[in-house]
Parts: sequence; C-alpha cells; structure tokens
Amino acid sequence: MRGIHHVTAISGRPTRNLDFYARTLGLRFVKKTVNFDDPGTYHFYYGDEAGSPGTILTFFPWEHASSGRGGLGLAQTTAFCVPAASIGYWTHRLIEKGVKHEALTKRFGEPVLSFFDPDGMSLALVGISGTEAEAAWSTGEIPAQHAIRGFHGVTLMLDAAAPTGAILTDVLGFTEAGREGPHVRYRANDGIGGVVDIREARGFLAGRMGRGSVHHVAFRAADAAEQAEMARKLVKSHGVHPTEQKDRQYFRSVYFREPGGVLFEIATDLPGFTIDEPLANLGQNLKLPPFLEPRRKELEAVLPSLELVS
Ligand code: ZN
Repeated sequence: MRGIHHVTAISGRPTRNLDFYARTLGLRFVKKTVNFDDPGTYHFYYGDEAGSPGTILTFFPWEHASSGRGGLGLAQTTAFCVPAASIGYWTHRLIEKGVKHEALTKRFGEPVLSFFDPDGMSLALVGISGTEAEAAWSTGEIPAQHAIRGFHGVTLMLDAAAPTGAILTDVLGFTEAGREGPHVRYRANDGIGGVVDIREARGFLAGRMGRGSVHHVAFRAADAAEQAEMARKLVKSHGVHPTEQKDRQYFRSVYFREPGGVLFEIATDLPGFTIDEPLANLGQNLKLPPFLEPRRKELEAVLPSLELVS
C-alpha cells in the first residue's frame, strides 16, 4: 500500500493542540513522546485507534514558535476523510465549537469543508461516500458514524507541479489523476491518505515555516527494503539525495527536500505504535526511546503539564 504515512506540523501551546485534535476533532491521541532531536519538547501523535499509516497527524508543540505564513514550498492544507453524509454534522460541530471555517466548496466533485486549527493551520474535511463502512475511533462525544477516518490528502503550494509530480509518480507510487483550475491531483490509492494535490501558483511568495505550518509530509514504504529501493531511485533518476535512515522508534525514516521545496520523508509501515505500549493504553503515558530513558526524570521536569481544563 502506498500513499501518505503521516503529516507533521508545528503548533503552539501543547494543551491547546491536544484539546483541539483529541476533543474537537475526536482523533485518538496515540503517542505522547518527545522530539528525539530536541527532547525537552513534546512530539504528539494523533490517528485512528492504532495510529495506522495514512491516519497519523503529528505535532511539534513549540509554545513560543512564531506564526508561519503560507506560500510556495509548503504544504498548504491537510485534509481528512469523513463519510459524505457527515459533512452536515461537522459543519454544525465547527459552528458550535467556535472553529473558524469557510463555506462548503467542491473540488474534483467532492465536498470540502475548510477550517483552521487554533494556530491557524489550514485543514479540511472531505466527504467521501463509502467511508462510512470503514472502522472508526469514537471518543463517545463524536459518534463513530461521523468520525474522521484518516487523511484524504495534502495540498502542496508550488511554483510548478511537474518536477514534484515526477517524484510522486516515479518513486512514491502515485499516478496523475486530473487537473481542476490550479490544482493537479495525484492519487496513490482510493482509500485513506491516497491524495496529493499540487496547487500551482507560479511566482507567488515563498512560504515561511512556523506555528500552524506543516513541517514535512511522510510517504509510505512497506519495509526497509522498499524504502531503500525508493531512495536508490531518487538518487539515480532524480539526482535527489535522501538522508541516511533514522530510527524514529515507531517507523524508520529517510528525508529529502523535493524540487518544489517541501520536506518529504519516506517512513516504513512497521513497527508501529504498539511497540512500546499496548493498544488499549496508547497515548496515556510519556514514552521515551531507549536512548532517552536514562534522562526521564530530567525531561519530565522540563516538559509542560498536559492537564486539560474540562
Ligand atoms: Zn515524520
């Protein structure tokens, strides 16, 4: 299976991020850990019940990060799949929760409800018929029938679609699926996390990464062998040199800057989030990779408290 593995973004205050994604949107908080490259700060993972590839949205909550600005070289919008019949439910819920949103539109024939998280991150719910049959995580507050199923996809804002499109199609398992206005759609599968839209905005201002921005988009590789093959193809056919493989505890990753400027990652499906805690307890306790476990006391002392005000 190909497509999006996870999307990682930058947020502000950790409790506000947790409240919005776990409560307002009803995603499962599947892992509370630290940023392995900056372990005094959190790394939050949200997803479906198991944090399956294609459902994982992760955040680096940096309370004092300055605001990002959309533009060329950044992912512009991250979209989730909901059943087509649930768009009305979500419109009502966004109004009720005071979430900034826009009027319902259509893209490629699908209803799109655009909205923003508390840090200004651009999000959307896309109504897809047939997804109501797929299993969903329910928080109790949001009935399973209306719950978010995972990613629909991401929209990248780029100067030109072709160079990035070549990597999506040649290396990452996507095919070009159509054009509508400034958007070129690429599709890896018909299910969760299968879509990348490139919005061509030639000559537009470059984006500035910050609070509310997507940091990188990760694509799926079944295992290390497939990932190595994709990395070889990047070098051989596209002159793009990915990093060496990094152990991210829940998957293995390589990173590269695609020609349009967006940071891409290729992440393995395995081992997944149950490697260090059982499925029933995901997200409840602070999990650290073995190399940081000796520093647990020190890290717990500096990480902000996550007590939510109810
Ligand atoms: Zn990542």
